Amino acid sequence: MPIKEQRTPTPSRLIGNILLAVSALFLITNFILPFVLGPQIPGVPYSLFIHQVQAGEVERVQVGQNQIKFQLKTVNNEPGTVFSTTPIFDLGLPKLLEEKGVEFAAAPPPKNAWFTSVLGWVIPPLIFVAIWQFFIRRGGGGPQGVLSIGKSKAKVYVEGESAKTTFADVAGVQEAKAELVEIVDFLKTPGRYTEIGARIPKGVLLVGPPGTGKTLLAKAVAGEAGVPFFSISGSEFVELFVGVGSSRVRDLFEQAKKQAPCIVFIDELDAIGKSRSSGGFYGGNDEREQTLNQLLAEMDGFSAEGATVIVLAATNRPEVLDPALLRPGRFDRQVLVDRPDLSGREAILKIHAQKVKLGEDVNLKAIATRTPGFAGADLANLVNEAALLAARNQRSNVAQEDFAEAIERVVAGLEKKSRVLNDKEKKIVAYHEVGHALVGSLMGGSGRVEKISIVPRGMAALGYTLQLPTEDRFLMDEAELRGQIATLLGGRSAEEVVFNSVTTGATNDLQRATDLAERMVTTYGMSKILGPLAYQQGQQAMFLDNGAPNPRRIGSEETAQAIDREVKEIVETAHQQALDTLRLNRDLFEEITTQLLETEVIEGEKLQSLLKQVQAIMPPL
Ligand code: ADP
Ligand code: MG
Ligand code: ZN
Repeated sequence: MPIKEQRTPTPSRLIGNILLAVSALFLITNFILPFVLGPQIPGVPYSLFIHQVQAGEVERVQVGQNQIKFQLKTVNNEPGTVFSTTPIFDLGLPKLLEEKGVEFAAAPPPKNAWFTSVLGWVIPPLIFVAIWQFFIRRGGGGPQGVLSIGKSKAKVYVEGESAKTTFADVAGVQEAKAELVEIVDFLKTPGRYTEIGARIPKGVLLVGPPGTGKTLLAKAVAGEAGVPFFSISGSEFVELFVGVGSSRVRDLFEQAKKQAPCIVFIDELDAIGKSRSSGGFYGGNDEREQTLNQLLAEMDGFSAEGATVIVLAATNRPEVLDPALLRPGRFDRQVLVDRPDLSGREAILKIHAQKVKLGEDVNLKAIATRTPGFAGADLANLVNEAALLAARNQRSNVAQEDFAEAIERVVAGLEKKSRVLNDKEKKIVAYHEVGHALVGSLMGGSGRVEKISIVPRGMAALGYTLQLPTEDRFLMDEAELRGQIATLLGGRSAEEVVFNSVTTGATNDLQRATDLAERMVTTYGMSKILGPLAYQQGQQAMFLDNGAPNPRRIGSEETAQAIDREVKEIVETAHQQALDTLRLNRDLFEEITTQLLETEVIEGEKLQSLLKQVQAIMPPL
């Protein structure tokens, strides 16, 4: 709960206001005033004007771009009235006027022409900037941030009053909790440590995949210690003007020091703390660099003043951080917040299930078993999906079957009934998926085949084969990994066996199979030729699949070639195994596919009784 927010104005807010004022002035002078004051000269139709000229009633004419003014001849010593008309494109006009002896001239430029024309050049970009600023304000502020450009967006939560977050709200990350208990103690009784002369750590970096509870843990630390919690997100700095980021950081720490002991939480630290040498997206990013420097300066500064401010930061990309951030006295402590294991998932489900009405039959342990790889946020989402489904099904509490359906939803994305495959595609997808299932049913390591479906789901998957492990696995042996690779290649092999050609449908399978094989060779040391050496660097990035490949630590060109050969050998062996399995079981393969095409989904008893008939080939030597 944000109890109060403290903000101070900065220059960019002022600039924004000036821009708005100038734009408004421009609009008034150029559009609104002329409209309000209107043409004071009576207007007549052009035809009447010509008529009067021809009748010789016109004394003089002034031709302007948007208006022709003309004065009638003096009658009885009274000067003729002035009228105006709107010009039409009429090249004959000068000639006519000359014939009739009318004095005529072009309208002189308006007196303030230079002013208007300058405004005409300058103002539109300003208006553009003003509008742009407006959107930044709206976009950047979050729920209560509509008018917050240039203000310190640090939100302050003073814990201890309303709903306070504690360690009881976080589960499944025992190691991280254990490390953070110490931080709570630093904040509660700093004296005990400083008396003996110990230096209280300033920065703790929470590292882990998205949704594992890093933000939650940081709040819980503040809650447990009963200290204010200042939070700010690195990504908020990215869109700012030069200089604003660093002033914001200064501001944040000023406030924090006043309220010490307290916690400053910087979410998405990588957004500002990216390695300076790696260069930004726009080449050198001055703004980010200044912000980062300010952060470093603040962290170095505050211990001298004796205030207990502990900076917690979160990132899911520790490998891109600037090394300067990780030096002693800065974020020298790192706490790994990893995805929860089986019992952790059960505990997290328990926490979130308290918020919904559970039916008698709900078995959280069974749900935890079926959700390996889910992070805390996914599990929270799962509970909510299940509750939504229960409500839609007119139930008064959430049943196990709601959870089962919710798992499928979260795993594979929402069913897209609108997406229709043509018959040929449907057939290919069916053979492809049955291929995975047949090969997978023989292989250990990737779990039991629970379901084959050709109902399109989510954005990408046309069909899917659901394999669920019966337990969490931490260690895999070589045979199991080879089995996984063969299973991944089962889909493509099926297409080859049946259609003698392949489609693009196996792209993702091939990617995963190749990655796995490469890891066997370069990380797990499973290649006889290359030996038990790690050719890949860095434990750190291993648990994160953020797409950035680890740089290989390869001594020579020969080693690189040997790795490629070994990877290829593993994949090809698995491929051959998959092909042989499918050929050996060709009749069963057809039978299952025909059934799948009929019912679109095969699961449960029926699937198991079919897969029981699969015959294994002799394993390759
Ligand atoms: P992160 O900051 O690591 O991306 P968050 O802390 O924002 O993840 O988690 C989002 C939500 O997911 C939390 O508010 C909480 O409801 C739920 N959640 C995540 N991890 C856990 C956990 N370990 N225990 C309980 N709930 C969790
Ligand atoms: Mg977060
Ligand atoms: Zn596939």
